[in-house]
Amino acid sequence: MRPQPTLRAAVTSVLAASIALSAVSPAFAQRAVGQRPDIATDEGGLWAQSDKAELEAKTKAELNKDPDLTAYVRDVACKVAAGYCGDIRVYVMDRPYFNASMAPNGYMEVWSGLLLRVRSESELAFVLGHEVSHFAHGHSLATWRTLKSRSNVGMVLMLAGGGIVGSLLYLGVMSTVFSFSREQETEADRLGFESAVTAGYDPVAAAAIWRSLREETAASDFPKTRTQDTRASIFNTHPITPDRIAALEALAAGRTAPSEGERARYRAHIRKFLPAWLTDDLRRRDYGQTLHLIDQLTADGEDLGVLEFYKGEAYRRRRLDGDQNKALAAYVSASGRPDAPVAVWRELGDMLGKVGKTAEARTAWETYLAKAVDAEDRWLVEASLKKLNEGAES
Ligand SMILES: [Zn+2]
Repeated sequence: MRPQPTLRAAVTSVLAASIALSAVSPAFAQRAVGQRPDIATDEGGLWAQSDKAELEAKTKAELNKDPDLTAYVRDVACKVAAGYCGDIRVYVMDRPYFNASMAPNGYMEVWSGLLLRVRSESELAFVLGHEVSHFAHGHSLATWRTLKSRSNVGMVLMLAGGGIVGSLLYLGVMSTVFSFSREQETEADRLGFESAVTAGYDPVAAAAIWRSLREETAASDFPKTRTQDTRASIFNTHPITPDRIAALEALAAGRTAPSEGERARYRAHIRKFLPAWLTDDLRRRDYGQTLHLIDQLTADGEDLGVLEFYKGEAYRRRRLDGDQNKALAAYVSASGRPDAPVAVWRELGDMLGKVGKTAEARTAWETYLAKAVDAEDRWLVEASLKKLNEGAES
């Protein structure tokens, strides 16, 4: 028995069915605050699935358990959710992709890749407002009902009702219920914009974050990615098109801008996660995108030691022509900043050693050993230094 391919085929069918969705009516009335559907209804079934997915999310290794960060994101979600605040539960997941999703039962995931890419609380507020409006207007249920009326209903129900647990179920069902139509996306953009602006956020932030995601896609190392549509969520089949951005720009026209220092205030909330999240981002191996992201973060003029170190890391790992020199330049620049991670001196030593700058390599490694007192890789650097000194003597 080979259950894997069958299951994969089922998931593929669900994905194909969701991609086939075109004009799902956004006609559902706004839900009542605190409303929980009867378990006997299709909506009740959808909630039960979401409850399961939420229970699973709580056990994931990627769940970010920092209480301050979760409280902060929840606070922003509540500002734009207004009356629905009590219906929403926020989970920050350390996953390096731009993604926010809101299940029909009010369980919201916000991924670290999103928090790393939004530049201000206003941008975060717009994206969360967009998600909350999918929830408030029952878009998932509308999608679900449309899907059930299609020929793939058997596959969908098998996945939703069968005893299959784990990420495939989650991905299959969740990608289905989060596959919103073009009309629903446009509506969620408009409603997200209105709720963020009503809560006092910057009107230009909405168009800015979608534009920025498109620019990052264009900066990919991979031609295939560059020609793909940019998506606001990994579950979302509907692309961020120029007309969506234009519609948000039109909404913002003539409205006043927010207070000074918004970006700095937002950065203060995510600062301590920058090293871990940038490390995760490098694991995607799309260094063109990571470098673009780092440039964006650098433009705000803060955290330069950390950002230049990771810029060096991106070039060092990419290894295209000229990347080694760019990595070296980034490490050298980072090493002059007060917030440089200690690892910068280890990498500097490696790189200077390779290009024959023995004396400078020695200084860099000695600096590393002096600063990284508890580092697990001290023995490696000590060995490199020993080899270098022996080479110098002979
Ligand atoms: Zn959406």
